[in-house]
Amino acid sequence: MNEITPHENLDILVVGAGFSGLYQLYRLRQLGFKVKIYESAPELGGVWYWNCYPGARCDTYGPMYQFSIEELWRDWDFDELYPSWDKIREYFQHADHKLGLSADIRFNTRVSAARFDETQCRWSISTENGHSASAQFLVLCTGIGSKPHRPEIPGLDDFAGRSFHTAQWPQKGVDLGGQRIGVLGTGATGVQVIQEAGPVAAHLTVFQRTPNMALPMRQRRLDEADKRALKVNIKEKYARRAHTRAGYDFDSRDYAGESAAGYTPQEIQQMYEAYWEEGGFIPWLGNFDEIYTDERVNRIAYDFWRDKVRQRLTNPAMAEKLAPTIPPHPYGVKRISLEQRYYEVFNQANVTLVDLHETPIERITREGVLTRDGRVHELDILVFATGFDMVTGGLTAMDIQNPAGMTLRSQWREGVNAFMGSMTHGFPNMLFVYGPLAPSGLSNGPSCSELQGDEIVALLKHMRDRGLQRIESSAQADEAWRKRIDDFAAGTLFGRAESWYMATNIPGKAAQMINYPIGMPDYLEQWRRVKAEGYDGFVFN
Ligand code: NAP
Repeated sequence: MNEITPHENLDILVVGAGFSGLYQLYRLRQLGFKVKIYESAPELGGVWYWNCYPGARCDTYGPMYQFSIEELWRDWDFDELYPSWDKIREYFQHADHKLGLSADIRFNTRVSAARFDETQCRWSISTENGHSASAQFLVLCTGIGSKPHRPEIPGLDDFAGRSFHTAQWPQKGVDLGGQRIGVLGTGATGVQVIQEAGPVAAHLTVFQRTPNMALPMRQRRLDEADKRALKVNIKEKYARRAHTRAGYDFDSRDYAGESAAGYTPQEIQQMYEAYWEEGGFIPWLGNFDEIYTDERVNRIAYDFWRDKVRQRLTNPAMAEKLAPTIPPHPYGVKRISLEQRYYEVFNQANVTLVDLHETPIERITREGVLTRDGRVHELDILVFATGFDMVTGGLTAMDIQNPAGMTLRSQWREGVNAFMGSMTHGFPNMLFVYGPLAPSGLSNGPSCSELQGDEIVALLKHMRDRGLQRIESSAQADEAWRKRIDDFAAGTLFGRAESWYMATNIPGKAAQMINYPIGMPDYLEQWRRVKAEGYDGFVFN
């Protein structure tokens, strides 16, 4: 990076205008910091700007998928229990209208590089569109799914049809009607695209590597009475997010109790039936905590799910692929998705399921996808629902260099070290929210953005109040934090699945539990402890 002449001097530059970045702007501005957000998209919303593929919607019910700021929730309602991408965009416009956020956001501005100048104790930041800034602190809020992953499959350039990654979907939309569509990937995104494409496609070919243990969403439209009911005790519900494992307004113990050992097999089945009817994440996050540690309990939950799903499938061979007799991995240790009519799509005559374990993709041809059995699956549109370089990808995509000349990308090549999931040794005055080794992907996004976000704001205020200029996490604190996470994860079944939770969804990425798996209350307790000990683990100078 060449010498930068800053266009603007800031106390704090926040990168990203999704939930976590907007919350930082809102709070830090209130405290009088000179703060701006740089955002690559032309609008607010983070992932919800880019992910406008057919069927994109949130797997968290609306009241918990928004800020807990009263000025915002008081006169905002979603019209469905699980809001769609366009309604979430409207919500962000509402937040902007109320809080005037855009005034301090520079849109269409992707941060490309940052360097820390030790003499001035400031970051120099440059952007792809030639802008630059100088800021004492860099707060990275790039979200967990901002760098799309498109696997390298030979022949893509030969394809005569159109291909799209779901996170780079054309803003004006793509008409799937009457098309021969291929969808690669059956994660949360794939499930949503598949259930939209199936009913309208001339033919839909689903390329599946691992079946998704999807749960019924139980979506419903909300009338005025529903909307009022959802706001009852809403302040208490927001407050509760700090006290539940995944940052929701409910916890596993509200539903399943302490241990499966306290129930007869019949009682467990009855309980599971009730939670299946309730739907959403309840059969997952409302399940016994033991599903993460005890294979026997986990298998009971899997078998229940499998049998429920198979009842909806008419073709036994298809059923065995979508809900196998033997679980491909333990239940719930890979992100479970919510579906509305996903399984029924596979009963349609115009839908083919390709099991990539049996018949891997050889290459993409002019006509479509050639699989190892010699068959060409002819397509007009190929959809890559292949996910993201999750959690770290948005951070390492930027050329961030520390005073020793080390880039963040190389620092984390062998795995991530980050104290409190907020700072990594050697990168002074650089903090991140909703990133690696924080609750992030194992929690509700807006909850983590606010709860971790509050700690970052408190830390910055602490420094300002005491005239402290420079902060860095110690190498020992980073190491101990990672060990805490690794040790905990080693006692769970998470490592038994290839997943982005374990950073194993990207070829070559170092495997590790990349979120904070011990739960939101424990995470916040660690912050309390660290603060009580004068921010022990951070070094100020
Ligand atoms: P994902 O969960 O990582 O799923 C990617 C899919 O692509 C998987 O089925 C994966 O198979 C497959 N895949 C990847 N590389 C492949 C290859 N080389 N060949 C064949 N298949 C390949 O990504 P995602 O579905 O985009 O979701 C990512 C996360 O974003 C979610 O877990 C969630 O946190 C968030 N999200 C949320 C929502 C929502 O709230 N509704 C919607 C979308 C996304 P394997 O499973 O075998 O690896």
